[in-house]
Amino acid sequence: MRILVTGGAGFIGSAVIRHLIENTSAEVANLDKLTYAGNLESLSLITNSPRYNFYQVDICDSNELDTVLAQFRPDKIMHLAAESHVDRSIEGPSDFISTNILGTYNLLEATRRFWNGLPLDAKKNFRFHHISTDEVYGDLEGTTDLFTETTPYSPSSPYSASKASSDHLVRAWQRTYGLPVLVTNCSNNYGPYHFPEKLIPHVILNALAGKALPVYGDGSQIRDWLYVDDHARALVEVVTKGIIGETYNIGGHNEKRNLEVVEAICELLDELAPIESKEKTTFSFKELITFVKDRPGHDRRYAIDASKIERDLGWKPQETFETGLRKTVTWYLENPEWWGRVLSGDYRLNRLGDVAL
Ligand code: NAD
Repeated sequence: MRILVTGGAGFIGSAVIRHLIENTSAEVANLDKLTYAGNLESLSLITNSPRYNFYQVDICDSNELDTVLAQFRPDKIMHLAAESHVDRSIEGPSDFISTNILGTYNLLEATRRFWNGLPLDAKKNFRFHHISTDEVYGDLEGTTDLFTETTPYSPSSPYSASKASSDHLVRAWQRTYGLPVLVTNCSNNYGPYHFPEKLIPHVILNALAGKALPVYGDGSQIRDWLYVDDHARALVEVVTKGIIGETYNIGGHNEKRNLEVVEAICELLDELAPIESKEKTTFSFKELITFVKDRPGHDRRYAIDASKIERDLGWKPQETFETGLRKTVTWYLENPEWWGRVLSGDYRLNRLGDVAL
């Protein structure tokens, strides 16, 4: 297999590449623009593999995409490059429209040109796998429903609307041009190498710094959580065994209120990194929890029905929320160098075209 992963320096993309290099014999290309969210240091465990290749390319640049495809000649493309942070999409939607919609369009067109030029066997074997989110389905507030693959789209934020648009484009390229595509929609991921602007790493690092732990609104928003390595395994199952044109929902069966998640992190930190106060009174990290004004348009509940991928492809998450969260908190405690360089901004120096450290 020759797999091109877009967004491979991001949180999930780097987990996919680590998984591919460590557990398969695939030749892997990482195509990434290296925005603020791209961090090559998340790939340090596998960078020396002769099967790993890196291209610093923007998916909005058609010429560069043509060059990489002609040079690397993938038989699978896993498309994860995106702007991914909802709060940033509310403050400035423009990059989300460019990368998530126009970038995906460019990548589809470059892929179609490349795919059309392949010999018949290679054309049949080729797959374009688009990685998306459960946020495209909107809000399940006040119900016990689960998102299935046929739930109508109803995105709420500029982020989820841009991802919904890209999902529609990908499916249209299959229906109209016959491009062999697969789509997956996954719930919230968490785990090692997660950029500190997202809830779980933000709470861990703020707690370790003795800062307030901000919780939106009353903290009762419900999300389904999946450990990132379980997602990476699911994606590789889909790209290698999934049926062309199908969508697979991926989730962890872990519906939790945001406040529950923050409290669970505090309890783990109380156990793994306890602080003794001068007065010798018992301190809990929960004392740092602070409620802040809710995000506009905030969806109340997401929940995934992942029975199709479990039934058809035999995938199941290996981590429960409890085991996955313990692994995550432990990883942050053991890897201060990784997140220290993210917080200081030094991770951005370790890239092509900039001053290398
Ligand atoms: P991330 O923000 O951590 O990483 C995104 C990566 O894409 C970065 O390395 C960035 O440099 C790269 N990138 C951004 N714009 C680019 C461009 N124009 N050209 C090339 N590369 C570009 O994101 P993530 O959390 O790893 O998410 C990956 C994908 O999975 C996204 O498509 C996201 O919508 C989807 N997803 C994420 C979650 C989650 O919980 N994080 C859940 C479901 C689906």
